[in-house]
Amino acid sequence: MKYCPECKSDMNTRSVDGESRLACSKECGYVFWNNPIPASAGLIEINGKFLLARNQAWPAGFFSLISGFIERGESPENAMIRETEEELGLKATSVEFIGHYPFPPMNQLMIAYVVKTEGEVNLSDELSEYILLSKAELVSYDFGALKLGRTVVDQWLSQQA
Ligand SMILES: [Zn+2]
Repeated sequence: MKYCPECKSDMNTRSVDGESRLACSKECGYVFWNNPIPASAGLIEINGKFLLARNQAWPAGFFSLISGFIERGESPENAMIRETEEELGLKATSVEFIGHYPFPPMNQLMIAYVVKTEGEVNLSDELSEYILLSKAELVSYDFGALKLGRTVVDQWLSQQA
């Protein structure tokens, strides 16, 4: 952010509340807090298998949970139900909370669910392919650099005990 959205002055970096932050160089008081944006993430269950998908933007071989932003006025659960239908063409029959996870690389707060679904998979343009894993395969699946997927799955597995 180069210019203050309030008064159009230059922004600069200075210490605000003990952190280095981007703020207006003039007196208007605008501070770019850069608060994380919440997003919903889902471990999708279909016919007893677990679906991981590859986003178009990810390199070959990378699969993880599906995720999406929450719309204004929408609950994270409803966002998850909507994303499941939009991204996968699947109808959610239950949505259970797993946990929430700060995700600094994207400055997001991920709110993760396990989503039971029914229907036929029909991927949106955002996703390029998917895999179906048994629970045993999910336990040992290598998420590679997509560490958040591993964290969410491990927490869900620990909740099953
Ligand atoms: Zn300003």
